[in-house]
Amino acid sequence: MNYFSSDFKLGILGGGQLGKMLLFDTRKFDIQTYVLDPSDEAPCKIACDQFFKGDLMDFETVYNFGKKVDVLTFEIELVNLEALVKLEEEGLKVFPSPKTLKLIQNKGIQKDFYIQHAIPTANYKSFDNLKSLIVDILDSKTKLPFVWKCTEFGYDGNGVKVIRQISDLDNLANVECIAEEMVPFKNELAVIVCRNPSGEIKTYPVVEMEFHPEANQVEYVICPARIDDKVAEKARAIALTVSEKFNHVGLLAVEMFQTEDDEILVNEVAPRPHNSGHYSIEASYTSQFENHLRAILDLPLGNTDSKVAGIMVNLVGSEGFSGNVVYENIEKILGWNGVTPHIYGKKQTRPFRKMGHVTIVNEDIIEARKIAEDVKNTIRVIS
Ligand code: ADP
Repeated sequence: MNYFSSDFKLGILGGGQLGKMLLFDTRKFDIQTYVLDPSDEAPCKIACDQFFKGDLMDFETVYNFGKKVDVLTFEIELVNLEALVKLEEEGLKVFPSPKTLKLIQNKGIQKDFYIQHAIPTANYKSFDNLKSLIVDILDSKTKLPFVWKCTEFGYDGNGVKVIRQISDLDNLANVECIAEEMVPFKNELAVIVCRNPSGEIKTYPVVEMEFHPEANQVEYVICPARIDDKVAEKARAIALTVSEKFNHVGLLAVEMFQTEDDEILVNEVAPRPHNSGHYSIEASYTSQFENHLRAILDLPLGNTDSKVAGIMVNLVGSEGFSGNVVYENIEKILGWNGVTPHIYGKKQTRPFRKMGHVTIVNEDIIEARKIAEDVKNTIRVIS
């Protein structure tokens, strides 16, 4: 199929920042794109060929959108799965596959998949609802502390809570959940794997993620991770296995824990471009977005090596500010070497909302980390 400067249409479900960054590459290649998103202010709107407003969870809307395009992908997992299954049955290429998405959309099913395929992961127990979990705790079958996770519709840590005492369960939704062993980890790592339908497969270097202690959102992503080479090799090997077991097409971001004794445990995966790979736009030979595109179109994959060390700082809304966004001191950081802000295009800020990110590249990772901290302390997302 001729994708370039042709009638070919790539459909993208979701019009957020991930889609917007993917569109830099569709434009680079002159590939036509259609985007579906519920918001009039979707970041993708300015860069796609045609924008459709609609509910991503609605069967008819997703199905009808799929009928307009030649290949369908998504930048968010919360999409109507039945529509994707039907579209695939009718011959549309949907990547990543709805089968993979089904395994991933539910954290309990995802964990079961790791166990079935001997992929190392933290021990867990599944419950139909909160009430049955409480019964299990009262029967001393589930021991405190543990990590509670709702199996569906959690996002950026909001469906996750550390339970140290039974009262920590107060006010949690009475929904299907898992109770997972607390992992005493020294690092949170991630590896992005890309794989095309022909089976060509590559991994990006291991990155290290530093989290904001309250918001449970990634604050810094550091590439390469400052860990032992052997641990890094192990993490890449496990990530490759995960992608192969899913028979995945496109990008798969594999989030992992490095335990105190250097074991690697898979936490969860995201079947799409990922926050942990944004550094690749400036620091890698081929960005994660370009490789996602290459992978889903069954084109040869690009080089995943880094040219320089890269650090990403998330730009989230400062606490105490809601309303029309202002990026305070953005001019100042633009004056520093190797510093590139990305502004997603959301007009309204609110506390902890992901509004953009800044990439810092430098030959020296220690220097990059220092600049990243200066960036973090200088730019503020206010209203
Ligand atoms: P989300 O899907 O919302 O990103 P995660 O499962 O990644 O949720 O959990 C969010 C964060 O909670 C993780 O990045 C980690 O810091 C912490 N966490 C999750 N599971 C565990 C665990 N088993 N032990 C310790 N910390 C955990």
